[in-house]
Amino acid sequence: MSSTKYIFISGGVISGIGKGITTSSLSAILQAKGFRVSPVKIDMYLNIDAGTIRPQEHGEVFVTEDGIETDLDLGHYERFLGLNLSKNNYITTGQVYQKVISKERAFEYDGEDVEAIPHVTDEIIRRIKLAGKELDAEIILIELGGTVGEYQNSLFFEASRILQLNNPGDVANIHVAYLPIPKSLGEMKSKPVQQSVKSLNSMGIQPDILVGRSEIPMDNKRKERLALFCNVRFEDVISNPDVDTIYRVPLVLDRQNIGEKILQKLGLKSEKKDLTEWKKLIDKIDSIKRKVKIAIVGKYFSTGDYQLEDVYVSVIEALKHAAWDSGVKADLIWVDSEKFGKGKDIKESFAEVDGIVVPGGFGVRGVEGIIDTIRFARENKKPFLGLCYGMQLATVEYSRNVGGLEGAHTTEIDKKTPYPVIHIMPEQEKLLVGKEYGGTMRLGSFPCRLIKGTLSYDSYGENTIHERHRHRYEFNNKYRELLEKKGLIISGTSLNGKLVEIIELPNHPFFVGTQFHPEFKSSPLKPHPLYTSFLRACKKD
Ligand code: GLN
Repeated sequence: MSSTKYIFISGGVISGIGKGITTSSLSAILQAKGFRVSPVKIDMYLNIDAGTIRPQEHGEVFVTEDGIETDLDLGHYERFLGLNLSKNNYITTGQVYQKVISKERAFEYDGEDVEAIPHVTDEIIRRIKLAGKELDAEIILIELGGTVGEYQNSLFFEASRILQLNNPGDVANIHVAYLPIPKSLGEMKSKPVQQSVKSLNSMGIQPDILVGRSEIPMDNKRKERLALFCNVRFEDVISNPDVDTIYRVPLVLDRQNIGEKILQKLGLKSEKKDLTEWKKLIDKIDSIKRKVKIAIVGKYFSTGDYQLEDVYVSVIEALKHAAWDSGVKADLIWVDSEKFGKGKDIKESFAEVDGIVVPGGFGVRGVEGIIDTIRFARENKKPFLGLCYGMQLATVEYSRNVGGLEGAHTTEIDKKTPYPVIHIMPEQEKLLVGKEYGGTMRLGSFPCRLIKGTLSYDSYGENTIHERHRHRYEFNNKYRELLEKKGLIISGTSLNGKLVEIIELPNHPFFVGTQFHPEFKSSPLKPHPLYTSFLRACKKD
């Protein structure tokens, strides 16, 4: 059996240039060529996982099937590959140090002095190798978080160098770096990339392939300069310009034969080449003219545009996938729930929209505005999709305004509410009292039984589904009977029937709230059935 191959993808010049999309796209290309791939994200922070980092800081927390709270890049990997990844595909400095220190305390280093190199780097390498096991991967793609030259991620670069030293021929390095076009010059500059490659070189790493990120395609002159000064062949300088949809990137990179080039470096031969599905998808997207307007109502909108996309990336992508599947484009509108107070504003804000989504969230900020929004959607028959917090607040709204339970609330916000229609489970309560916050929510995939004859059942067309969760609070069964009598339909529950997983309303084009996050399982080639069903209702046909 041939050995496992490793591709390290590092970033240069600035962060946030789409290293994750490059990694996802290259993984998809190699997968299409018949290889079993496993992408890994390495984050340099000391947190064990992304679950305890605030959304404005980190963006969305993506949840895997096995219930790990990870970086949003894992979401991109899954969407591009149609694979379920696991805890092994996500490494943080915190995980690595925790393991090394606990081994040290257990005397597992046999009295040696424990050092950054080799002990920390060995642990990093062990984890990277582990990422290939479950998926039986032939190629592991490792995305190194941050940019080259940062003190905080240097041990990961060291680990990559050592892995290459010990496995010559099995490791390739790709450097993804940014070429700015300063307004005052009006010309694309390659010097910052040259310098970031020098930084890599100083750590003993030579990139095999350079991927230049830029607003417009890189011309040959820039490629020649980069080739000469960065010591890579001209044909190994790849241009990765901004595009209208991230799903075009595999085709952009494939046109420049990045897959063949990297396989050659690793001594591998491609078996087949098939990006037909991607081409079909892009052709379809390009042909769509009609738009539907969908409002996403949340509270993390106040600190600049790019963050809002980051916080709700899986929801946004799932809406796009489902829209394309329905032959329309999703025109997304951001509505800050904190700005609401009066019914009038709400009517104005949503008059033009075809559907309303309330995504997951935490805490009190903007909650009453969200509840008013849900009431508007219910009374005005606007298609509504509530996700996790969205479902919980839809329950609160229904209890207050239809169930006659004045002051009903979730105990997350109002511990003394007379009607705690959403409450915390005793085992979760214990965790909070003990300050055991990290990784302790109800996390990961759980089965859910659907009730025949409901909209949810019709959308999925299945008796039992599996969906991913991330929450501490639940529907309070004490109010189940009363709310059902008042017309609320509980269309999905846990297998033992004890946990309410989906609520919906009759006599409404689409009003569904899920305790889980269906968006985590949507991909462009396989849109999520509930999102598709929602989009059809928004499209009104
Ligand atoms: N804050 C709610 C809970 O903890 C909902 C969480 C979410 O929307 N992901 O249950």
